[in-house]
This record gives sequence, C-alpha cells and structure tokens, in this order.
Amino acid sequence: MPELPEVETVRRGLEELLENHPTIEQIQLTRKDIRFPIPKNFVSALEGQSITGVRRRAKYLFIDTPKVSLLSHLGMTGSWRIETKTPAHDKHDHCFIELSDRRILVFRDPRRFGVLDLVKPGEESKHKLLKALGPEPLDETKFNADSFHERSRKRKVSIKVFIMDQKTVVGVGNIYASEALFRAKIRPQKLAGKLSRHEALRLVEAIRSVLTEAIEAGGSSIRDYKNAGGESGAFQDAHQVYERGGEPCRVCATPIRSKVIGGRSTYWCPKCQT
Ligand SMILES: [Zn+2]
Repeated sequence: MPELPEVETVRRGLEELLENHPTIEQIQLTRKDIRFPIPKNFVSALEGQSITGVRRRAKYLFIDTPKVSLLSHLGMTGSWRIETKTPAHDKHDHCFIELSDRRILVFRDPRRFGVLDLVKPGEESKHKLLKALGPEPLDETKFNADSFHERSRKRKVSIKVFIMDQKTVVGVGNIYASEALFRAKIRPQKLAGKLSRHEALRLVEAIRSVLTEAIEAGGSSIRDYKNAGGESGAFQDAHQVYERGGEPCRVCATPIRSKVIGGRSTYWCPKCQT
C-alpha cells in the first residue's frame, strides 16, 4: 500500500509531467465506481479545463484546474501514469485522460480500493473523506511535541496504534510507524497515555525525519508501488526494523522482534526500545 512518502513522490512526479499545464480534452471512464461511485459529472466538470498543478493532503492527491480539482486516492494498488499513445486494453485501467499535448494520463487500480472524485478548490476540508483528518506530519505549526503530547493524555491505546490514527497525524502508515518508534527508542506496545513529554518530542522528530528521508529516497516501493514515472523507490534499503524480524538490530545486534499490533505486523528492537 502506498504510504505518504510514496504519494508525495507520485505528486512530485505528476507535477513535473504536467508542468506544461495541458488542457484536459477528453476523459474515458471504463467503470462507474472504484471504491466509491465516481461522480456523474466527473467527465463534464473536467473536460476543457487546463491543469494548473498537483497538490497532496494526507494520501489524497488533487489534480487542480481553475474550477475544480480531481481528487484521487491510490488505495492499496492504485497508480497514475502517463502514456504517449493509446494503451492496450487492460481491465485494471479505469480512467483515461486525454491531454492537449497528445499524452494520456491513466489511472490504474487492480484491487479497486482507490478513489476518483471531484472537489472545489478551497472546499477540501469539507469533503467527507478529508474533514476528519489530523495535521500534516511536516507542518511544524500544527504537529508538534506540545499538541501531540496533549492529545495523547489518558489514551489507553498503544503508541503505535495512536500514531497510525489519522486523527492524531496523517500519513504514518505501518512501515513508518515501526521505523519512527525505533528512532525514538519507544516500544510500540507502550500506552500512548504513558508517553513522557520528552518521549513525545523524540517521536514527533522521528516521524518527521523518517518521512522526510523516505520522500527524499522516493518512497519505499513495497510490492505494487511505482511512482508516476515508473521508477521504484529505494527507502526499503534503509529500513531499520520493518520486515526484519529475527535479523540483528543494526545498532545493538539483538534480534528484531515482530508481533501483530492493532491488526498489523509490527517490528521493534527489545533492547534499544523501552
Ligand atoms: Zn537494538
């Protein structure tokens, strides 16, 4: 599943590919829904509009035009790519956007957990999928040690489940939760409410640094993920604990432990993390 760094990598790739601001000439949809129904006015609202940029909020992407934005989510296996000629028929390609520069933007999603929708610029925070989202992890004003520590008080969930809750902070998926907790030297099972102010500070900084480095490396490229240009990310080579169960900790050589926490595989070093 693409996580925030992969989605940001896709955003940067798309923005570069669309920097000539092409006009959307024609859209073909091969189905009426992905995870949810595609709005009936999807095609008519976007055709004739020129693309002005590509933004991201959490793991949602906005392909902007002056009047309306195409909102998308990659779900488990979604991807955007650009073709220079009409692609061969593939049942997993669901949306073809023909651009004025003769290129075709294609949305593909074999498992169909993705989303295609519309949103008016400026109304993103009112959209049903976006309105409950917490702060962006790289926004130092809205996501910081004070607000994070305050929010964790009296919470009886594990810190790993707490940081993966999109109301706490967006975009900390399963890989980066384990990696950030390792960097912050905090055990994933520790109750969120027991976090000290200093641990909260370490964890906020760890979340920010792990996501920033992953974005710089182009995402983690686990399984189906490919960025918009078709290149794979390289961050998995830098994982300290994720998918390293039984292997020696890179800091202290103790075997990395793994356990399912909150329904997801979780990895930690029993010596480095307390
Ligand atoms: Zn260790």
